[in-house]
Amino acid sequence: MPENPFLDPSFHVRWSELKAELVEPAIESALKRAEDALQAIERTGAAQTFEGTFLALDEATDGLNRAWTRVTHLQSVCDSPPLREAFNRVLPAVSSFFARIPLRPELWRVLKACAQSAPSAGSSPVRARYMSETIAEFREAGADLPAAGKARLEAIQAELAQITQKFSENVLDATNAWQLVVEDERRLEGLPAHAKARAHAEALAKGAAAEGRPAWRFTLHMPSQEPFMTYLLDGDLRRQMWEAASSVGSRDPHDNAPLMARILALRAEKAELLGKAHFADLVLARRMAGSGAAALSFIDGLRQRCAAPFARECSELEAFRGSEGQVASGRLAPWEVAFWSERLRRQRYAFDEEELRPYFPMDRVVSGLYEVCARVFGIRVVERPAGEVETWHADVRFYDVFDARDRHIGSFYADWHPREAKRGGAWMNALSTGGPMPDGTRKPHLGLICGNLTPPSPGKPALLTHREVETIFHEFGHLLHHLFGEVEIRSLNGTNVAWDFVELPSQIMENWCWERQGLDLFARHFETGEAIPEALFSKMTEARNFRSACATMRQVAFAKMDLLMHIEAGAFAGAPDLEARLRSSVADCLIPTVPASPTIARRFTHLFADPVGYAAGYYSYKWAEVLDADAFTRFRREGIFNRDVGNEFVLKVLSRGNAEDPARLFRDFMGRDPDLGALLERCGLAT
Ligand SMILES: [Zn+2]
Repeated sequence: MPENPFLDPSFHVRWSELKAELVEPAIESALKRAEDALQAIERTGAAQTFEGTFLALDEATDGLNRAWTRVTHLQSVCDSPPLREAFNRVLPAVSSFFARIPLRPELWRVLKACAQSAPSAGSSPVRARYMSETIAEFREAGADLPAAGKARLEAIQAELAQITQKFSENVLDATNAWQLVVEDERRLEGLPAHAKARAHAEALAKGAAAEGRPAWRFTLHMPSQEPFMTYLLDGDLRRQMWEAASSVGSRDPHDNAPLMARILALRAEKAELLGKAHFADLVLARRMAGSGAAALSFIDGLRQRCAAPFARECSELEAFRGSEGQVASGRLAPWEVAFWSERLRRQRYAFDEEELRPYFPMDRVVSGLYEVCARVFGIRVVERPAGEVETWHADVRFYDVFDARDRHIGSFYADWHPREAKRGGAWMNALSTGGPMPDGTRKPHLGLICGNLTPPSPGKPALLTHREVETIFHEFGHLLHHLFGEVEIRSLNGTNVAWDFVELPSQIMENWCWERQGLDLFARHFETGEAIPEALFSKMTEARNFRSACATMRQVAFAKMDLLMHIEAGAFAGAPDLEARLRSSVADCLIPTVPASPTIARRFTHLFADPVGYAAGYYSYKWAEVLDADAFTRFRREGIFNRDVGNEFVLKVLSRGNAEDPARLFRDFMGRDPDLGALLERCGLAT
């Protein structure tokens, strides 16, 4: 009998055979194999070798990881009731298996004995790093706890896995449950033509419109919501959408507030069990920031640098709306902020972001990205003809990647546009980790990138916003981190690095979307083929830092909420009104509006859709921006297509994964520690 396709180690995944009913048998069998492998390590006795212990541990969960990655990935891109059901049935067993690995006394004893007695392991710095990271990881997971403590920890993990999954389902279901169908075309004034066409196509597809009975359907998915909130003249319709969007996760039957309180309490209990003051300290101990206090002080430092320009930007916008004569003055309503910001931007820079769209046809952007990477990193990206490689959906494309020496370093899938059964946002994921194998051979890596970008509309290619272009570059940066991985220990390879370092490779790629030379490679009008006119380009760069203090402050508010909730969990989880408490703790970072806008907390999937996820780690977006702005100064100085600098970045950062302390990797590339100056300058906030 052929192997269950969820377990099949072949490079090319048989997506069409990955049926919901095969999930349970696959996971059961993978769990059994992983258990056997761990028991074999535990039986190694006195003569421990690195290969028989640490290396065997790195490989023990291979099959389980493979199957589980496929299951969770399918759930992200092809959610269906049978799959969700199968997923929820196996989830507890899988999470408790992983959580229990560091809690196995015999395994822990063998590893500690090997770490103390195997001097040969120290001969390779990567092996030594893997040993020390594993030992630290086991300790943080409770390896040294007495039996009762371990049991409690396991119970906490299992409950967290389930309720965080529920949190995420609530957000997706509440998002999908809402639609707005407009039948009076006059109410769509201001809306860009592409958004209107898309809404019309949606209405037709959903039967809300028909021949001779036009209608336009809008949803809370970003490509629909964003132009609606930014451009629509009809403030009452914008208010309706804002009310729906801001209530996602806060109303029955999708109310996330009780789940949040429980998640925070469980995380705090876990930290206490492990001897940490709070969850933030537990999570950050092995990250660049090192502690909750250090991360909070970084974020607060940013807040202080932004406070004055932030206040100025807020009152400017209020004054601008007043000057437009519709309303005297005073606070804006939350559904007016994006709208008036866009009008002010247009007035100040005579710049409409939509003017750029025709220059960003999806296919050209993607091939331009590959050209940038060819010049900087020497890689070649080759698309496989449609149908040659199986994928999970007809829209998905498949590519092979070759390095400068023409080695096939890896392949990836790209799935860029929204579908109803696909989760929101954009992300990269590793499907299998190749690179140098311990036996001296090498294997290609396999990864994927997904997004929810503007889809093509009838008779027109997908035309992207500049932000969507940045998203593509961003996710591809993560993918490069995976594909360039040269670490022989799989769990130290690619993107398996500290969370406050993992966004450096992705965010640095966005810089190429702001350079004239970079844009000229791919930004071409989809009808005339002309490059972005100089006047438009300078308007775009001038407008870049428009309201940048507000944008920074928004991230600061998210990061501060996150850190405070995880540092003072008791105060938040136990508060009679968690939302009110949150609001007041970040009041100085929020744009003042009437009515006040609820915080993002109850739909904040970054923090609550996973047992850990970005919890206590949201600050790392800004942290990594400091790193990427700083690192990119080398390319600016030495040439944005400079192959030597590109090579150095591959050698010293991208290929190194977690083989070395990230602070050290950064220092290797820059010759010094990170400096906040480059970011403040890039944002126009340097004084
Ligand atoms: Zn990212």
